[in-house]
Amino acid sequence: MNANNENKRVTPESLGGSLKSTLRKSDEPDRVFPKNRKVEVVFLVEAVNAILPRTEGVEDITLIKLPGTEYEVPIILPEKLQAVARRKMLNQLRWFRDNSNKMKEYLEKVTNMYKYEVKKRNKKGEVVISFIKAKEAINEPKNWNCYIQPPGGDVRETTDVGMDGFCPACALFGTVITNVTLEFLDTIDNKNKNVFGESVGVKSRVEFDPAITFLDKEKSVAKYTHSKVADGVSWTGMGLYSDYHVIPGTIFVGKVTLEDVTEAELKAFLAVLSSIDRLGGRERLYGGVRVYLIGIKGGSYETASALEIARKLAEKYGGAKYPPAIDEVIKKTTELVKEKRFTSLDTNAFKNLMDNTNVWEDLWSDTVKYDRQIVKRILDLIRGSEKYEEASR
Ligand SMILES: [Zn+2]
Repeated sequence: MNANNENKRVTPESLGGSLKSTLRKSDEPDRVFPKNRKVEVVFLVEAVNAILPRTEGVEDITLIKLPGTEYEVPIILPEKLQAVARRKMLNQLRWFRDNSNKMKEYLEKVTNMYKYEVKKRNKKGEVVISFIKAKEAINEPKNWNCYIQPPGGDVRETTDVGMDGFCPACALFGTVITNVTLEFLDTIDNKNKNVFGESVGVKSRVEFDPAITFLDKEKSVAKYTHSKVADGVSWTGMGLYSDYHVIPGTIFVGKVTLEDVTEAELKAFLAVLSSIDRLGGRERLYGGVRVYLIGIKGGSYETASALEIARKLAEKYGGAKYPPAIDEVIKKTTELVKEKRFTSLDTNAFKNLMDNTNVWEDLWSDTVKYDRQIVKRILDLIRGSEKYEEASR
């Protein structure tokens, strides 16, 4: 590698060219079938405020023993990163909805998703299959929404309450399509309804490693005492309480693998990832973070892990008297991933894409094509294995 290449950074403009053989094309006829085209992205998360990277419990921070070291270190669980990225993308899709006149166009396409011929079975002719939430919003695109809400009460699936099953976040991060999402099961062929059960899972194409710091809990975790009154926490009795936080300045190493994504999907995802600014419990008061994109690499197998990089950083910084500054860790991590043939990424250039409506238009356009293939696949499953084989070639 010459000096020029050393300093070369992937920008939104060069992204498509540099990952050409890895990215899927938006018009590929079999985009919904995996080809294991993997894009690995290594990034750093810097706590700029105290953060609470926990899932359950009042005082728990998730800690692991960093293998091969004497350190016990906080981690951010993959499901947390996944949920934060998805929420961030949904926020931006709502912004796009309110700042573009294109929403109607996409909702129309989803509302007219697929024409299914039913001549043979009940002579009804054609049935148009559509996503229910698109149909509801078509005349009032400002009403379109998709959100994460856990199932509860009578609902059986997450999709029953919030997810629409067709938007770019659902297509990329996964969803469950049920007869509550899709309007067709009752109109078609009740006899063969059980061909694929009552729901179809759209697998997430985004897989995070746990993000891991390289500093022992002695250096990265502290107990804070808060005033319940100031925090607005409901309480009786004592006005003070304590819990554990990851202290500001702590740096986590993260890695995410995207599978079988198009250029538009990757671009939008990198915009979202680089813009994550809140993480962890009680986000209104704590949890300020900054994300730095370090390197990117395409291929058919994974070559790096957050764990392995964190171990190497622990070797260098674990015993240091003072925790290293972010610039220093960016430099070292960049060196480490370059050994694995990653190319550097221009974080700010990707962050700037957030407010670029073209990015979200391209993403919607690719997503609608993807949805069409998903619906086609569901229909093929209903029609029978013969057609399914044809579609899965
Ligand atoms: Zn959605």
